[in-house]
Parts: sequence; structure tokens; C-alpha cells
Amino acid sequence: MKPENDLTVFDRQHIWHPYTSITEPLPVYPVTSASGVRIRLQDGCELIDGMSSWWAAIHGYNHPVLNAALRTQSEKMAHVMFGGLTHEAAVELCQLLLDMTPAGLDKVFLCDSGSVSVEVALKMALQYQQARNVPEKCRFLTVRGGYHGDTFHAMSVCDPVTGMHSLFNRVLPQQFFAPRPKCRFGTDWQAEDIAELTSLLATHHTEIAAIIIEPIVQGAGGMWFYHPQYLRELRLLCDRFEVLLIFDEIATGFGRTGKMFAAEHAGVSPDILCLGKALTGGYMTLAATLCTNNVAQVICQGEPGLFMHGPTFMANPLACAVAMASVKLLLQSDWQQNIQRIEQQLQEELEPARSLQSVAHVRVLGAIGVIEMRKAIDMATLQHFFVSQGVWIRPFGRLIYLMPPYIIQSADLTRLTKAAIQAARSYS
Ligand SMILES: *Cc1c(COP(=O)(O)O)cnc(C)c1O
Repeated sequence: MKPENDLTVFDRQHIWHPYTSITEPLPVYPVTSASGVRIRLQDGCELIDGMSSWWAAIHGYNHPVLNAALRTQSEKMAHVMFGGLTHEAAVELCQLLLDMTPAGLDKVFLCDSGSVSVEVALKMALQYQQARNVPEKCRFLTVRGGYHGDTFHAMSVCDPVTGMHSLFNRVLPQQFFAPRPKCRFGTDWQAEDIAELTSLLATHHTEIAAIIIEPIVQGAGGMWFYHPQYLRELRLLCDRFEVLLIFDEIATGFGRTGKMFAAEHAGVSPDILCLGKALTGGYMTLAATLCTNNVAQVICQGEPGLFMHGPTFMANPLACAVAMASVKLLLQSDWQQNIQRIEQQLQEELEPARSLQSVAHVRVLGAIGVIEMRKAIDMATLQHFFVSQGVWIRPFGRLIYLMPPYIIQSADLTRLTKAAIQAARSYS
């Protein structure tokens, strides 16, 4: 159980992990393999995965179909540059994405990671407004509590308090922030919820290129579920003030919220859509930025007549092939029923947490279950506790949350919910 061997010794001395200190590192657990919903540690201990490796591994690990897709593609070619060349894996994947995403999206830009796909989306919006001869429309409006990635422009639209803004204050572009939508998913819509955003937009629309938002579920910014009407109102406002609407579905896409894309809860289509995370079923890093025909046409009619982005590993064939296999696997599965089953079980089994003193709120949507504590938890202690219980749950801030692979069986899910509740109880 105690991570103490050559791997972890070297790791601790030389390797950065996400948001960590090199001088006072938290323990990391060496993994030797993973299969289905089980992550196997070097000491032989097995953990049931409650995180899907940050929204990504929706089919579980070591999936024969995804393995085969990678193998087959690797025997054709692992990579070729995308400048001046194209290939079947990219074309088929883009066709599939355009078929399944909300109506109106017509062009796809493939990129390397979620943060880059957000950079690309923001760049598209800027080039679009420049091409329309309104270059003053060069800032972004978003809501508080959002998370859009760690690169600079993406960071600038993350929540200004939790999103590292003070740290990089001198170099971050300054954006407009409306309050976090208050009206929860599943409650009655309150029209005043969008009043402040409306007035911000009315005052500053001549400076605003686009609104960017995570539809329905704010992920890393607090696992917050809000009312679909908010998105319908946003769509109308964006059209009225000639501002583009960008949906960041990097976390919510591919079924997680119970719809294939969270935008479907509202029946709203964005002008630009960011996808990532579950796109490859967690196998490789790949993301995509989709836009409407109009956005693409306008960009290309302006100066310099090109969309100015082109990563070295754009449309990597291995990543495209495994993404296509993953998306097809999802479409062929009974994913809606799977998510519903998980949602219902999460609802039932997390219910007892509601009565705990230490718990502020419990919420479930699709295959996401959240216990929001009243106070911040101690991550190192809880992490150790979860591993000792044979589960992989990684809480942050005041949140203990579950988003297991869609293939998880009922008994394994119960182990996750039991551990989560026990953890919450230990703070009562
Ligand atoms: C994770 C995430 C990103 C950033 O994606 P990376 O692949 O980590 O760069 C952006 N937006 C949302 C909503 C995310 O959940």
C-alpha cells in the first residue's frame, strides 16, 4: 500500500505531476496495468476506478476493440504530417463527429489537447470578428466557476478566483465575468439568473468576440449543474449582440451527462464546440474544435484568408483511429441505459450523505455523482483512505465526486459510493 520503491523515489525527486510541489510532493501510486474498471498497483493491490482518468476512460481500460484499432492503425502508419496530407482515420472521425454533434456544426479542427482546442476556439472567434471588420470585439465573456484549461488564453476564462489569475495577473488577458448560474439543474427557472450577464453584454458587446461556457455541468470549477434555460437565453443574447457562442464540452461530451452532448439538454447549438477527454476513450491525447460553416467562411474571407493554427501532431492517425473506435463503440452500446442505470444507483446510494453534518450538498447528473462538503477535505489523507478501501477516487477542494467508466457493474459502483460516503462521514 505504501508507495516506496525505486519508481517512486526517482519520481519524487525528478518528475512533476499535475499541480504539485517538487519539494513537498504528495504520494503517488505506481500502476502496473489497468483493465476494465480496475487499476492494478505495483504491490498487487487493485483499485476500482471512480474517475475514468479525468472523464476520459469511458469504456474502461485495456479494451480489446480500442487495442485492436491502435494495433491496426500502427501497422499502416503511426503518424504523418497533416500539412498537405490527409488520411482515412481523420476523415472518418470527422464525419462521425459532424454526424453526432449538435446541428449546424460543419467544420472540424483536430488538435492535441483540450486546452489547445480552447485556444483554437478563442482564436477562431478573434479571427471571425476581425474578418467582420470589428477588431475591437477581442475580449471574452464567461461565467464564474468555469474551467477551460491551463494555457494562457484558456486560463484567462477560467474562474478568476480558483483559476490562477492572481498568479499570472500581469500577463493574462482581462475578460468579463458574469456570476455562476445559480439556478440548479432540475429546479424551476428564474429569469433573473441571467440578468447580470445580460447587462454585462449590453454594456460591453462592442468589445466582446464570444461567450465561452461549459454547458450544463461546470467540471473542474466545482462540479456544478445548472439550468438548461440559461443556455437558451445565451443563444438568443449572442445572436442579438453579434457575439459567438462557444460550448466547451471537453468534460461533458460523449454521454457523461445522460445526453450525448450536454447542449442537448437545452436543444441549443453553439457556433463553436470544443471536444476532448473522452474522445479517444482515454487512450491518447486528442481534441477537436468544431465550427459552423458561417464562422469558417467569414474567417477565410478576412485577412490573411487562412485560419492560423497548425500543430505538428495535428490529426495524429493513431489518435484518430482509436477515437473513431471509441466513438463507434459508444454509439453501438446501450449507453443511454448504462448512464441511466449509473445515475439511478448514484442517486440511491449517495442519498445517505445528505443527512451528514459535514455535507453541504449532494447532486447527481448522468454518470456524475458529487458530495460537496462544508469544508475543504485533506486530499493526502483521503487519498490514502480510498486506496486502502480498494477504490480510486480523487477529491479536490470541498468535493468528493465519482464519474466511473460507463461499463462499471453495480457491485463495483457500490464499493465506490460506500467509500465516498465513509469518507464524508469521517468529517462529521
Ligand atoms: C479538462 C478540460 C479542459 C482542458 O483539457 P486538457 O486536455 O487538460 O488540456 C478544458 N475544458 C474543460 C471543460 C475541461 O474539463
